Amino acid sequence: MKPTFFQSIKAKLLNIVPQGMMMNWSTFDKSLFILILTGLDQVVWWLWCVYSYLTPEVREWIRPDYMLQRITEISITIVITVISLVGLHKFRHNKLINQITPMLVVSVFTVLYIHAAFSIGITSPTTIGGYISIVSLGFLFMERKFIYIVIFPSTLFLLYLIYLSATNQIGYAPVFSEKLNTSNIYKNTFWIGSMAFLYLPIFIVCTALFEILLTQWRNREQEIKIISEKDGLTNVYNRRSISEKLSLLDLHELSYSIVLLDLDHFKTINDSYGHDIGDRVLRRVASILAQNIRHKDMVGRFGGEEFILILNEDDLSVVKEVAERCRHQIEKTEVQVHNDLSISITASLGIAVGNQQKNSHENIVRLADQALYLAKSSGRNQVRHYLEIV
Ligand code: GH3
Ligand code: MG
Ligand code: MG
Repeated sequence: MKPTFFQSIKAKLLNIVPQGMMMNWSTFDKSLFILILTGLDQVVWWLWCVYSYLTPEVREWIRPDYMLQRITEISITIVITVISLVGLHKFRHNKLINQITPMLVVSVFTVLYIHAAFSIGITSPTTIGGYISIVSLGFLFMERKFIYIVIFPSTLFLLYLIYLSATNQIGYAPVFSEKLNTSNIYKNTFWIGSMAFLYLPIFIVCTALFEILLTQWRNREQEIKIISEKDGLTNVYNRRSISEKLSLLDLHELSYSIVLLDLDHFKTINDSYGHDIGDRVLRRVASILAQNIRHKDMVGRFGGEEFILILNEDDLSVVKEVAERCRHQIEKTEVQVHNDLSISITASLGIAVGNQQKNSHENIVRLADQALYLAKSSGRNQVRHYLEIV
């Protein structure tokens, strides 16, 4: 299927990110990443300040002296950021640098944010939007202790600045002219454009990072789920999943059948050719069983060399057919030991059909086990069922 526009953008984004979980990066690497984003945001600010300062049409809306001061400050900040990045990367193995960098970067980022927020208006949409986006991402991306240490004092300080500007003890949005600050800003296209221009990069970066982090998180959840359900060696369901499935079938009083399969003389294979070959045999048998059942049926590893099939079927003749097919496939399979030697294997199978007697799954498994025992004692490499037990 052709990916949608958003799916292909997401795939591209995920490709840009270095391999591995972003959340699992070291705190130091995360700090460097934040420093890079800080530098890029400073560039956006620099462009906006220079444009505003040099464009005659918008001059009446800004305070040129303050704007010039901002341009100088931001230029110096960009240079310092680049030098810091190079320096920190070079001395990344220094223990002290590694320890102090995260706190330093988060603090510098916060100071720059507060300063920028103050200059364009402490309660402006860009300031508030930026605050929400950055804090939310911070909680997801960084260790929480950094966020808590920084977020409380900086939020209090922002509130204090709001109080100071509300009581006219400091000016509001000193980067804009008095004329703009006292006019209807929501009708001023320069102000609206400026808010959008300064907020958009934060919004885009935060949304993209959220998407990457959550996708990686979901993928990991999926992997953990598979690991917890499957048997590591054979990749069929493990005993825990089998028990859960059987309990669920009992709960809903559904009809099903159980086939237990035990490899014949498996110990001899281990003893003669080694455990690795034994493992190879187990993997091969598991894949044969998986290929010979329907989508709605289930195959699991019940013990060392014992497998279980749970079939959504209560017709004994159909179950016998499936079991016989599996037995036959195993019998004619050759497992390669080395270049000149292949071995064949056989298995014994026991069947029990459930639920006509309102049996619990423990009882049905017991019946299948007895049928399996019968198959073993009758000479192996055969299928026997519960009605044959005397
Ligand atoms: P029978 O025909 O009566 O079933 O004989 P058997 O040799 O297959 O039965 P037995 O129960 O005596 O041996 C089972 C062997 O399975 C013993 C154990 O070493 C081996 N086994 C159990 N788990 C694994 C595994 O994960 N890998 C390998 N290679 N062998 C295993
Ligand atoms: Mg056994
Ligand atoms: Mg065996």
